[in-house]
Amino acid sequence: MENKVIYLDNNATTCVAPEVFEAMTPYLCEQYGNPSSIHRFGGNVAAVVETARRQVAELIGAKWRDRDGNASEIIFTSCGTEGDNAALNAAVCARPGRKKVVTSIVEHPAVLHYCDELERRGYTVVKLPVNNLGQLDMDALNKEVDENTAVVSIMWANNETGTIFPIKEACAAAHAKGALFHTDAVQAAGKVKIDVDALDIDFLTVSGHKLHAPKGVGALFVRRGIRFTPLIFGGHQERSRRGGTENVASIAGFGKACEMSLAQLDKEYAELSAMRDELERRVCAAIPQIRINGDTANRLPGTSSISFECIEGESILMLLDMFGICASSGSACTTGSLEPSHVLRAMGIPYSAAHGTVRFSFSRYNTMDDVKYTVEKLVPVIARLREISPYWKG
Ligand code: PLP
Repeated sequence: MENKVIYLDNNATTCVAPEVFEAMTPYLCEQYGNPSSIHRFGGNVAAVVETARRQVAELIGAKWRDRDGNASEIIFTSCGTEGDNAALNAAVCARPGRKKVVTSIVEHPAVLHYCDELERRGYTVVKLPVNNLGQLDMDALNKEVDENTAVVSIMWANNETGTIFPIKEACAAAHAKGALFHTDAVQAAGKVKIDVDALDIDFLTVSGHKLHAPKGVGALFVRRGIRFTPLIFGGHQERSRRGGTENVASIAGFGKACEMSLAQLDKEYAELSAMRDELERRVCAAIPQIRINGDTANRLPGTSSISFECIEGESILMLLDMFGICASSGSACTTGSLEPSHVLRAMGIPYSAAHGTVRFSFSRYNTMDDVKYTVEKLVPVIARLREISPYWKG
């Protein structure tokens, strides 16, 4: 067992950046006031929440400010899942006469399972297909979106393959029929440029722990002027749009993380892409019968989904783990099943490849040495597993 850790699972979660941690600590033991309190102990903290709101807004191009100079299109949430649920709930409430929801088959369960719930409540849910590169079927989208559609929800980028979707076109298609448009930008935020104003997006979800803020904080962008029905009712926090005392320390950290991501967006895009490309170059050169999944011409910079024919992704992960390398598989292993993920299945990846899929995802804290070390260990791991695989014909 190696003691060192090469963490290549940044699409699952990221470490809290030291600067983010520093931005959070004052609001745990010292300035622990409730932002809703009248006294200065609370008021000072309320100002911190507003600064974070501005920082989140700036990351995604939410430009509107209220009279105090704050961007109120941002609602803080507990996570990306809550943001996705809240957006879909608000969208169907804002279009009460419409009973159809259009989404894609490769969305995160935070969207798909809420859509299943809407189906139980009588909505028709259409899950649009993708092709073998994971690209969205835009013809199907244009066909399915109609005057009965309340909302179209298409993720900005897929968490497994990194494939980026045509958000501008999907949003325009939704608006052409009077439907609202939501995008789950949990994987995209902080990695690619986002401008909600330029694209005229109605709802956009972000999650802190994917961009070096802590777990348990996120944000939902809601375009000004859209009637918003909350998912969580309670106090008057977040202008009565999300009850519950604010997670101030995490919100402060989230704001700082957004500010840092925005400041380094281009630099990190280049660095993450370079690491991903080098990993794929080395893997392709050293290992036969592999496939790189997703739209390689249009994907997130730090995501690489690679299928190794005839072996199990879980076995690869376990052996890599012994060398301190952390990645994730393309199977629904968390459910205890070895079914390939719904994303790979939707892309029509053959079972023999889908089962042997590993996702490597990079962050600003990875280096080219991590890439070299990973491939150095990966090559014999694959060879060893293929040697004992009954399916490998070499
Ligand atoms: N949407 C996407 C695309 C994700 O990748 C994730 C998390 O993996 C989520 C939503 C859920 O975010 P959270 O873990 O903050 O609830």
